[in-house]
Amino acid sequence: MKGFENTLEFAWEMDDQDSLAGFREKFYFPQMDGRDVIYMTGNSLGLQPKSTQDYVLRELEDWASWGVEGHFHARMPWFEYQDFLTVQIADLLGAQNDEVVAMNSLTTNLHLLMVSFYRPDKKRYKIICEYDLFPSDLYAVQSQAAFHGFNPDDAVVFLKPRKGEHVLRTEDIIAKIEEHGSSLATVMLGAVNYYTGQFFEIDAIGKAVHKAGATYGLNLAHAAGNVPLRLHDWNVDYACFCSYKYLNSGPGGVSGIFVHEKHKNNPALPRFAGWWGNDPDTRFQMPRKFVPAEGARGWQLSNAPVLSMSALKASLDIFEEAGMNRLAAKSQKLTAYLEFIIRSINESRMNAGLDEPVEIISPADSGQRGCQLSMIIRKNGKSVYENMVKKGVIVDWREPDVMRAAPVPLYNSFEDVFTFGMHLEQSLQ
Ligand SMILES: *Cc1c(COP(=O)(O)O)cnc(C)c1O
Repeated sequence: MKGFENTLEFAWEMDDQDSLAGFREKFYFPQMDGRDVIYMTGNSLGLQPKSTQDYVLRELEDWASWGVEGHFHARMPWFEYQDFLTVQIADLLGAQNDEVVAMNSLTTNLHLLMVSFYRPDKKRYKIICEYDLFPSDLYAVQSQAAFHGFNPDDAVVFLKPRKGEHVLRTEDIIAKIEEHGSSLATVMLGAVNYYTGQFFEIDAIGKAVHKAGATYGLNLAHAAGNVPLRLHDWNVDYACFCSYKYLNSGPGGVSGIFVHEKHKNNPALPRFAGWWGNDPDTRFQMPRKFVPAEGARGWQLSNAPVLSMSALKASLDIFEEAGMNRLAAKSQKLTAYLEFIIRSINESRMNAGLDEPVEIISPADSGQRGCQLSMIIRKNGKSVYENMVKKGVIVDWREPDVMRAAPVPLYNSFEDVFTFGMHLEQSLQ
């Protein structure tokens, strides 16, 4: 990368020019030896905003003051609490307001959406997904196929990279979709793959999915709050996200769904129903017949988990202030800097006559990745990883040899990336 330098002075200069640098102050960093750790695992669990406690405390106070009447009298009435999150979530996903709602947890939502959008019959029953998908997603698609009486080994079709490659080529994904065409029921992709960090070409793939007559679903666990999304325009049918990774809502934080507007009032679409999905005008009259609320809200089952949603609200307010476009612009620079640092470590080792120690497996094209870089550590990876954590560099490890690091634009700095590189280089020795 032109213009970058692997020096602390250069990193400081970049931080000085960063208009988002101040946002770091809004988060708590875990401490080690009296200092902030170098936190590179916002892709697993985002840091806690300092404001979160106030948001949660406010609901605890209202609960103390009002008891059950808080449903209508809390400062943010619990009856409609989920609706306070809608506009900000819709913004992050590139959705219309009635296409999204926060509810449940992620794997639960994936199942609920597949109940509606994976409707296999004898001819059309296959599910295409990545081979390297998150285990929970794998179990979800396998058990969905089995639930409908199909053999998962036949019904679930995996996308694998070419020999010697680590990420999927869009042309290969589309070829696979065409190959299974008339037997394909749905395609369910991690919009950003959790393992490689690959951000798929969602729009182009979606066109092929719909041409084949299948539905198109996304798991946004690693995409929401990481990359700019335009789910409505991309014509995605269904999607779900978790909010505890890039969206900083805390462990087990509430999930959410997207259902495209075109399915808004389709009575032919079966769903598993619950009272919170009933039309809010009659919800508390407890009608004997379920009348779904319009749009995504009609998929809700249970009353809003307000404490968890209040924590998400704290973070969404920060995202709104920072702006996803500014975050994405910083993210590209910050991740490019990380890439540059890793490459310069490789170069200096090779100049010393040694083997190249690190191979980045995330896409090189910044348009096809978010902030995460996954890298193979070629020798003694596990001990390199353990050594880094001991030094206060929090990264994550996937067997057998992959380290993942995610400089998050909301709270990581160029100095963090420089320091990461310094410790990586030392740990490789
Ligand atoms: C993090 C993650 C999950 C976790 O699922 P939960 O139901 O929230 O425990 C599932 N799928 C993907 C792709 C993930 O990245």
